[in-house]
Amino acid sequence: MRGLLRTSLLLGALSTTLAWGQLIPPALSSRPGAQYTIYLNFAGFNYDGTWANKTPGNVPAFTLDGDATTFNSTEMQRIRETWASTAAKFIGFNINVTTVDPSPAGLTDAQRKTWYDNTQYLTHTILGGSNSWYGPAGGVSYVGIAQQATTSNGMRTNWVFPAGGSGNTAKSMSVVASHEDGHHLGLPHQHDENNGAEYSSNGGANGDGSYAPIMGVAYSSQRATWRHGMSGTNVNDVTVLLNNLNIGPIIDDGIGHTMASATPMSVLANGNSNPGQHRGWIMPRAETGYAAEGANAYTKDYFKFRSLGGLVTLSANDGTSYLAADIADIGATMRSSLRIFDSGGSLVGVATESASTLVHTWSGNLASGEYFAEVTSVGAYTSTYEPNSRYFNMGAYFLKGSGLAPVPEPASMSVLALAIGGLLARRRRSR
Ligand SMILES: [Zn+2]
Repeated sequence: MRGLLRTSLLLGALSTTLAWGQLIPPALSSRPGAQYTIYLNFAGFNYDGTWANKTPGNVPAFTLDGDATTFNSTEMQRIRETWASTAAKFIGFNINVTTVDPSPAGLTDAQRKTWYDNTQYLTHTILGGSNSWYGPAGGVSYVGIAQQATTSNGMRTNWVFPAGGSGNTAKSMSVVASHEDGHHLGLPHQHDENNGAEYSSNGGANGDGSYAPIMGVAYSSQRATWRHGMSGTNVNDVTVLLNNLNIGPIIDDGIGHTMASATPMSVLANGNSNPGQHRGWIMPRAETGYAAEGANAYTKDYFKFRSLGGLVTLSANDGTSYLAADIADIGATMRSSLRIFDSGGSLVGVATESASTLVHTWSGNLASGEYFAEVTSVGAYTSTYEPNSRYFNMGAYFLKGSGLAPVPEPASMSVLALAIGGLLARRRRSR
């Protein structure tokens, strides 16, 4: 009897799960509690009524295998990567890019649409289905909607069309999602400075080292970046984003910005850096008016570490590492520089860049002592194709190292240091 009851309950639960549970995407949020929310909806949406006088209808969930009733493991991974690559574009802004529906549970899709319309600081981005209901486009959005107190007729919803539009790679979907959400946050297009075309692709830039504007067309370039355009209208993407109601200023990454305030590296007993503990983002500085150009227009991050004498290797990887510690997600936006300084502030070495992986590595023998690792931007990208526009060289990185020793704890941390010392001593004895 008891078993039977359990079974019937389980069946009841399963039938609910089969209808909806399999369409639950991975729950990912880049900045919970942020002022603005970009909700990336991969799970489909039954759109009630018209959007811009067109009829979206029942938009299927994101799918690669043609079965929009479940997410298989490949689709789940594609969703994770698309989320990470979209979140990377908005890192440092007071924005949470999330796959978790912020609307209250139990609402119908029609009620959700109204709830989104009535919820300030929100964008509901649907990534699913084709552009057949709208027309030829990778995606579409209203402009300057996210900060409005209320909207109507689903204006707070915008679109990425994987089928026939953006394509279904994580790169292409994130490029379009960032573009449409840029529109929602007030950004116009970045025009081609050279020939006046509506969308700049930076002359079709592609391959290692290439870049193109998010608010233009950035499908082909290695990096998609915000831009200070000089064509037609003079639009600084970053200042427009920051002009949204209650969104600014840029959020600090919490890493020390001077050698004096350098963040001590977390070092494991084997001398490797503690994975996932040295992540930050380099941003244009308010003091420079959020200018794009010049390395000094950007924040600098400093870490300190110690060498016991011997080979030390450090690498700065451009990009976020949301999905796995110390592994770069796709969608890096910055080209960083990594430099090593000694305790007196003298330059010891400059990392070498791999243009294809965006990893910057320095390796060398260091005498016993304390050192600094500096990560910053190399400054704006400039293009010979569009000589006046400036591409922001900003975004996430993470730092790794080996051959390191921890920096001695400051006096106020002595109790903790003693505790760690005790732990290490015990470990040594147990070997
Ligand atoms: Zn557009």
